[in-house]
Amino acid sequence: MTHQSTSLEFTERMAGHFIEKQFTLSANSPLKRNDFVQIEEANERTPFEFTLTIKVNDLDQFIVDPLLQAIAFGKITNFQGGQDLTVETGLFNLFVRSEASPDLDTAKEMHYTLFLKDSQGKAWTFFGFKEVLKEDSFEMWNQTTTLYYYLWEGHSTFDHPANKKVQGVGILRISVSDFIKQLGTFKSNAPSALEEQNAVIKFLNVFASNLWVAYAPFIFTTTSARWNEHLFPVNSTQGVALGEKHLYPLDTQDGLTISVQRFKAKETKNVVLLLHGLTTSTDMYIMPEHQNFVNYLHANGFTDVWSLDWRGSGRFVYNLMPHRYNIDDIAKNDIPKAIEFIRQACGEDVKIHVVSHCVGSLSFMASLAAGHVKGIASVISNSVSLTPKVRWQAFLKMIFGPELLEYLFGYAYISPRMPYFPGPGFGKWLYWMERGIRHECKEPACHLVSFMWGWGYPAAYVHRNIHPTTHRRLADLFGGTSFHYYRHIRKMLFAKASVSFDKKTNYLQESQKRDLPPILFISGSENNIFPGSNKMTYEALKTGKNASRVQYLEFPGYGHQDTFMGQYSHIEVFPKLLAFLKEQKV
Ligand SMILES: [Zn+2]
Repeated sequence: MTHQSTSLEFTERMAGHFIEKQFTLSANSPLKRNDFVQIEEANERTPFEFTLTIKVNDLDQFIVDPLLQAIAFGKITNFQGGQDLTVETGLFNLFVRSEASPDLDTAKEMHYTLFLKDSQGKAWTFFGFKEVLKEDSFEMWNQTTTLYYYLWEGHSTFDHPANKKVQGVGILRISVSDFIKQLGTFKSNAPSALEEQNAVIKFLNVFASNLWVAYAPFIFTTTSARWNEHLFPVNSTQGVALGEKHLYPLDTQDGLTISVQRFKAKETKNVVLLLHGLTTSTDMYIMPEHQNFVNYLHANGFTDVWSLDWRGSGRFVYNLMPHRYNIDDIAKNDIPKAIEFIRQACGEDVKIHVVSHCVGSLSFMASLAAGHVKGIASVISNSVSLTPKVRWQAFLKMIFGPELLEYLFGYAYISPRMPYFPGPGFGKWLYWMERGIRHECKEPACHLVSFMWGWGYPAAYVHRNIHPTTHRRLADLFGGTSFHYYRHIRKMLFAKASVSFDKKTNYLQESQKRDLPPILFISGSENNIFPGSNKMTYEALKTGKNASRVQYLEFPGYGHQDTFMGQYSHIEVFPKLLAFLKEQKV
């Protein structure tokens, strides 16, 4: 006997307005909910409605399909005073991962993609989305019945990379009376009334369980389904558009493996070496969700870019074990090793320009001060370098945190992934503690990043600058670390300067004695991790022998991490860094 699949269909009417508005839409800069509302309020609108039948051909298949995809047919009636637009092909996704809404807290979206034809035979695409916001159950009715839509020329899906010529947008809603009618339209091919009823229950179950995952407090919904969710492959280099990509593992003399990654579009004698911050990695410079620093350098004459994953990189599992490495170890072992390797690969006459961030910058400046590296062509240092300073709240965390977490709670490391661990464990407690004081968003990994670093809402970046996709994959971009690096920074905070772990070497004083390469110190004006630190270093160096070689630049509206990881950095930050690099090019 062959298996007879059970189908299910229902008909839905949505009505609202159409606002004529022409613009080019690219998939990585969609409109926000508020934009739709503002456009609707500020412009002339015409009535707009559709009646669609959504049909699931095989209900059992539908339930296991991650895209929860069904077909749709029907028409848009009375468009712009008369004509009907007929659906040629229509797709409906019940609950999909958010991509149409740039809202940071969107948990799930419903998508309507309709390929239409008007009476003259012209092709149109209607794309609409409903969005369900995390833990926002009071808004359930509104969110599940409001559809934000675009109408563009031709047939193309929302995620297709080609730009779309939008002719209008609008908002549609289901009225309560239409909703009641809709409930009466459920139809199935099931052979009996009982089986038909079962089919409807199955469908509503999928609906309810997806709403539960989105709306229920996070503590109840950390299922294993979330663990495999990676919006881009972990440590993917797909964000780099041009050239060869090579990864070179390097062994340090104290027994670790680190790596340098080379992104070479074209041979050049002016290479750039990138250093990430603690727990991030090369990934912070090659993000695929928007223009990134490596692509920007490639496009502007710096065609051979190297990135060092030093020992604090989120890519290395040994950071999730207890250890006693400190910043001196990075300065002494990792950085000289990478520079030596680059010189071997590119020739001794190569000019190395270093761009370093956070602990990568602390370590590089220590390396330079201690004379572990020489002959560097220029340096850009972000956020902190020789005079670390934090806000008093962060200082309190630094004083007690490492010992409390390591010896009292018995944790070898801390990571933004901890709230996602199974069960109501330590990570959940940390999350709820942070949640109690944080209203800026509902992303557990975002709260943990704020818990781990500095003091602010959020601490590491300004939300406006972070792409929604970045916000959704923070746990892939920020890894774990054990607590010893914090202890070293704590010593520096007490010493009011960068010092070696044994406090015998003051790296700031050593730097003041040396002839330094040209250095551009930078910071965001809203830096909540090391506020004012790089300005202090600049001021300490500009009175001495290096006065003519140091500069300081501040980026208004930027925090600590978003200078490099921001969605607008290629417009608002990188041009200034490029100008400096071009001046230093030899
Ligand atoms: Zn956030």
